[in-house]
Formats: sequence, C-alpha cells, structure tokens
Amino acid sequence: MCDMEGQQSSQGTPVPVCMICEQVGGEGIHILSQFICLECEREIVNTGVDDDLYDYFVERMRALWRDIASDPDTAPGPCYL
Ligand SMILES: [Zn+2]
Repeated sequence: MCDMEGQQSSQGTPVPVCMICEQVGGEGIHILSQFICLECEREIVNTGVDDDLYDYFVERMRALWRDIASDPDTAPGPCYL
C-alpha cells in the first residue's frame, strides 16, 4: 500500500551500489536509501580524523545527506509514519 522507500522499481530487486567506491552488489549496510559495502564501512571505521581519507568519506557522506534532503522521493510524504 504505502511505498515508504520510494525506491521500488518495476525491474525486480534493486542491486545495491556502494556510495563510496561505487562497487555494485556484495554485502554491506544500508543507510536510508544509500548503500555502503563492507570494505568501505571498515575503511571508514578504521580511518582517523587526521587521515586524508577521512575528508573524502565525510564529503561522500555530506553528499548523501544533501541527496536525502533535496530528493522529494525520500522526503516525508503522505505515507510517512
Ligand atoms: Zn564501497
């Protein structure tokens, strides 16, 4: 009835694409409508704030939040709970 995700397509099961390395498929975690593969998750966890990579990850995450905030599909609609 209520499509909370707004991500369902008519093409069957969506294949997750890592938002960090853009690798397709595999195991990982879903954050809202985005996906982070296990390798990147581990990288993020193991990256210190003074590491160059940290800035990169933060930048990617910031883009994620901006997407969510500006995407009408993920914004609360009549179906939100
Ligand atoms: Zn990844």
